[in-house]
Amino acid sequence: MSENTILNIKDLSVIYKTDLETVEAVNGINIAIKRKSTFGLVGETGAGKTTTARSIIRLLPAVGHVTGGSIEFEGKNLRELSEEEMRQYRGEKIAMVFQDPMTSLNPVMSVGDQIAETIKIHNPELSKEEVEQRVESTLAMVGILPSRKIDYPHQFSGGMKQRVIIAIALACEPDLLIADEPTTALDVTIQAQVLMMIKDLRERLGTSMLMITHDLGIVAKICDDVGVMYAGKIVESGTVQDIFEGKNHHPYTEGLFGSIPDLKSKAKRLNAIPGLMPDPTNLPKGCAFAERCKYAKDICFQEQPKISVSGTHKLCCHRFDENGNKKEENNGQS
Ligand code: SF4
Repeated sequence: MSENTILNIKDLSVIYKTDLETVEAVNGINIAIKRKSTFGLVGETGAGKTTTARSIIRLLPAVGHVTGGSIEFEGKNLRELSEEEMRQYRGEKIAMVFQDPMTSLNPVMSVGDQIAETIKIHNPELSKEEVEQRVESTLAMVGILPSRKIDYPHQFSGGMKQRVIIAIALACEPDLLIADEPTTALDVTIQAQVLMMIKDLRERLGTSMLMITHDLGIVAKICDDVGVMYAGKIVESGTVQDIFEGKNHHPYTEGLFGSIPDLKSKAKRLNAIPGLMPDPTNLPKGCAFAERCKYAKDICFQEQPKISVSGTHKLCCHRFDENGNKKEENNGQS
């Protein structure tokens, strides 16, 4: 693992197993996050983004199991740590902001006490006064008056609650912040404010970040590198320039860009990607996007595509050769 990489996920696979079925949620993904940079993980609901995030901090639900791969954080494989060791990492080194601010806070504890709880767990040597000072400076950092530390979650708006959650996540100055759709539950104007705040904090504190989103606009605004996830796999990855300015793209990425509303267009309907993601309990043997792909050929239904690499840009599609160049599309078979 390079010195400059803070998190290196290799070949990670995760299933959800019940008595009735096995869901293949994540299928052999690779992600490398550089220090002080933001990696955006994009894809529609059910692609496996949140499962990936929960696997990193080992907070999968009881039916979730990591079945393969490694998750190296600063050179240590998190999968090999004891639960006790992992607790030291959570909050102190890796923190997570969950999607819904309405359900993430304890309604019967003041926000100050909730921030203080995290600080005390990871810094037992601090005096009461020092903890209070940290609570106040953390609130100020996310743009909330320190005097509001005595207030309860119901006294805050949705955007302010999400700021409090981000304050709890940042209270111990973690090295890696995982933000799982942090603005999805907020209205558009508040979304913009919270995003600007996250970007500003990242720059000031030098925190590395995994930003999970389905919104390419967010990726363009705050990410350095991007992974596009579909049916538990990363189908395209690269720098933000590779994804937004490159000429070759995975058909799914093409579809995501095509479905962004264009204010100048007079089209009556949005350009949605037809069809649905395949059943994760019964994934097809070929490309998982084949049923929805306008370029699908026979081989796509038969064989999993291999990864093509061109510099920092990676694609997983039969349309491209191993160097990421588009193949001749002549006989309909490759
Ligand atoms: Fe489409 Fe085939 Fe590429 Fe899959 S492998 S995205 S079906 S062209």
